[in-house]
Amino acid sequence: MERAATADLRKLPAVDEVLRATEAADAIERFGRPAVVGAVRRVMLESRANGIVPKSAEDVMHAALMELEVQEELKLRPVFNLTGTVLHTNLGRALLAEPAIKAAVTAMRSAVALEFELEDGRRGDRDDHLRGLLCELTGAEDATVVNNNAAAVLLVLNSLAYRREAIVSRGELIEIGGSFRMPEIMSRAGARLIEVGTTNRTHAKDYLGAIGPKTGIVLKVHTSNYRIEGFTKEVGARELAALSAQHKIPMVHDLGSGTLVDLTRFGLSHEPTVAEAIADGAGLVTFSGDKLLGGPQAGFIVGRKDLVAAINRNPMKRALRLDKMRIAALEATLKLYRDPDRIAQHLPTLRLLSLAKAEIEARAHRLFRQVKAAVGPSFTIEIVTCESQIGSGALPLLTVPSAGLAIRPAGRRGGRLLKRLAAGLRCLKIPIVGRIEDQALVLDLRCLDDETSFTSNIASLDLSEKGNERT
Ligand SMILES: *Cc1c(COP(=O)(O)O)cnc(C)c1O
Repeated sequence: MERAATADLRKLPAVDEVLRATEAADAIERFGRPAVVGAVRRVMLESRANGIVPKSAEDVMHAALMELEVQEELKLRPVFNLTGTVLHTNLGRALLAEPAIKAAVTAMRSAVALEFELEDGRRGDRDDHLRGLLCELTGAEDATVVNNNAAAVLLVLNSLAYRREAIVSRGELIEIGGSFRMPEIMSRAGARLIEVGTTNRTHAKDYLGAIGPKTGIVLKVHTSNYRIEGFTKEVGARELAALSAQHKIPMVHDLGSGTLVDLTRFGLSHEPTVAEAIADGAGLVTFSGDKLLGGPQAGFIVGRKDLVAAINRNPMKRALRLDKMRIAALEATLKLYRDPDRIAQHLPTLRLLSLAKAEIEARAHRLFRQVKAAVGPSFTIEIVTCESQIGSGALPLLTVPSAGLAIRPAGRRGGRLLKRLAAGLRCLKIPIVGRIEDQALVLDLRCLDDETSFTSNIASLDLSEKGNERT
């Protein structure tokens, strides 16, 4: 294509002519005639606007085909999560176990007995598929599941504390990221927030002083994404449950991530399990499906039968319910927990978190040469030890030793070059997302499962200005 005088623009081929070009038939077969005609028109309009005249009908068709191909790529597509954060909320959190993927695919493809009793042909309840498993794994009397843990907290508050009071320690009034802030959720749920204690210290007497005739629930929130350290005091779950029970007030424990197994098995520090929270006397416990549990997005509410019944009577529950795909995936995920000894083999989240540093280091050695070749001589590259984190607010202070590749601009003007590198990696066919740390782009290799696909992908890295413009 070349810059053209206005007179030349009249020489643009007619749409009909373009549709007779060599690539046209194939394009129409793939994308349909209306889409191809639309793309051809856009290419011609752009040519006119920019005063650039394509050489021929073939040229226009080719440009249109390129545009159609770009459009066809899914917006939501796989990336390599080399950020070092295993449960990265912005990258979709947990990767599902194979049995869960199979179950979800089957449910997508066929009719399933979602709310249908196969024994007697009567209408069933979609919670029936998970209730038994959840009770078995947590020791709770009853259970229900909703869209996510935020929905679980909202629904619990609205069911048990609507136009009543919910008592929470000032040390637990968390914000989870985005706009999920405990005080705001409470007011949207119609509950009146009664804050007790101070940021760093809350005592039993603070709760006792606040309990009154209007109290709906006492809420304990696992401060999942931060720690208050130093001169601190909190009322433990067991004590708080006992204290609430004396006044016949249900204690609700929002565990956040929640876990169904003792994480010390995997060399991680202890995080209260759901079964422990139930054993400590919580009336209800809420937790996420796609954090440490390693399943699809979901929010669990487990605990006392009468309280779960109250939640099930709430008309809002319908607005927050789960579809068949996720119920199928959850059932398969939860079943894996029946064999806790082998759970880390089957569940990607726990497998990735328990991966030994030596293994990751070996991976770094295997990939060093190809990555060095791909980034070229403008960068230096070294194998480094780094720290992975769990993410999604679970065990915020805990990091697990990991290894990766640190890529640094070789000369001056490092900042711009580093940005270009990060952008180049993001516009690969399978985007690679690392983290920038200390003037280097670090690729933490903990979550890199498919080395072959990674190396062929990074081989097409284009760090020229033009390469970056494609985004
Ligand atoms: C993450 C979290 C939530 C929200 O859970 P989602 O499943 O992300 O909706 C609520 N409470 C706590 C304490 C959390 O850590």
